[in-house]
Amino acid sequence: MPFQNTLAFAKKLDESDVLKEFRSKFYIPIINGKECIYLTGNSLGLQPKSTQDYVVDELEDWASFGVEGHFHARNPWFSYHEIFPPLVTKIVGALPEEVVVMNQLTVNLHLLLASFYRPTKERYKIICEAKAFPSDQYAFESQVRFHGFDPATAIVEAAPREGEHSLRTEDILSLIKQHGNETALVIFGAVNYYSGQVFDMEAICKASHDAGAYCGFDLAHAAGNIELHMHDWNVDFACWCSYKYLNSGPGGVAGAFIHQKHIADPTLPRLAGWWGYEKATRFNMDKGFKPIPTAEGWQLSNAPVLSMAAHHASLDVFEDAGVENLFAKGQQLSNYLMFILDEINNNTKEKMIEVITPRAEKEKGCQVSMLMLQKGKEVFDALKQNGVLADWREPNVIRVAPVPLYNSFEDVYRFGEIVKNILER
Ligand SMILES: *Cc1c(COP(=O)(O)O)cnc(C)c1O
Repeated sequence: MPFQNTLAFAKKLDESDVLKEFRSKFYIPIINGKECIYLTGNSLGLQPKSTQDYVVDELEDWASFGVEGHFHARNPWFSYHEIFPPLVTKIVGALPEEVVVMNQLTVNLHLLLASFYRPTKERYKIICEAKAFPSDQYAFESQVRFHGFDPATAIVEAAPREGEHSLRTEDILSLIKQHGNETALVIFGAVNYYSGQVFDMEAICKASHDAGAYCGFDLAHAAGNIELHMHDWNVDFACWCSYKYLNSGPGGVAGAFIHQKHIADPTLPRLAGWWGYEKATRFNMDKGFKPIPTAEGWQLSNAPVLSMAAHHASLDVFEDAGVENLFAKGQQLSNYLMFILDEINNNTKEKMIEVITPRAEKEKGCQVSMLMLQKGKEVFDALKQNGVLADWREPNVIRVAPVPLYNSFEDVYRFGEIVKNILER
């Protein structure tokens, strides 16, 4: 069905949306006395209305049981994290023993780099995307220095060609080939946070392995946004946060994936803590670390239950919605948004907005990045005054993410009208 830039058409799409009931399960922030058009779910997802109950349950059990809650709470804290694998596996495409929910994203990234970035004099390079999220850049840089190498020579960045905004897969693959003999690790964001480009993870992973390097992905902008198959793509490791598309609250507990082929490998070095120790004998408190032979073996500390309760509430919403429905609607939302931005460009004298997110469905999720050719900051500031929350990235990109759980096609239509009015002023 061809798209139309009308309110009636947007409402029609909402009517036939199988996820239309889900919007009412979230708190939508209020601006100027009205529900805002929230397009920053890629930065901080909204709060499910069920979250408070899940968190309050744990506060009540803490009040009732004290330390005994580790075993006698309704969801015993000793094993609280074991709730997650069945829910998380569908989101990242993994086996239950390959995933664990723990820590924060950058912490998990460092823990996984400790296992999978083990440079030698011959093989010491990390290949990553240019404009990787800053925390990842700092993690790579500090790991390289930690092992006594120089980031200037050890970090190789894949950048778009002159005049282009997204990376060509062929260029990534040939870079991997070119540096293959010296490369220890290839690591990309699954979705680039700036452009919204989704990388061909399967191809990148295969090329990395062909070159003799490990391959990992940061799924911060992918988990809950796009279809992922970490296990089938043979990815060595991955990590993600839960507060973006996964709606688990500011600074929420993060996740990690370690491929089945590595989880029980005793030769793989790691930074250990007691929560990664064999469960049956953990409380003997013996010397000599014996890891759980699953991804849980990478845990350090006992579970942050309050943060996990919020994660649990949110993942139950994902379970109800069905990830296939979410991924399909996310594509349709970004397609509709791109269509509307094209309409705006067609109706202004000069082109005002360049969409830098690729258009092919395999190369995008629900995020659309708008490079503002004119009036960038002016448009962005006016958006907020008009009840739209979007995201500004220097020097002149507005990122908008209509997310399938709580955004509507009407949100996208209204956003377009507001942008048009600002540009016409
Ligand atoms: C959001 C994001 C982070 C943030 O890291 P935290 O440790 O959660 O603060 C890191 N990397 C990427 C790719 C991100 O998108």
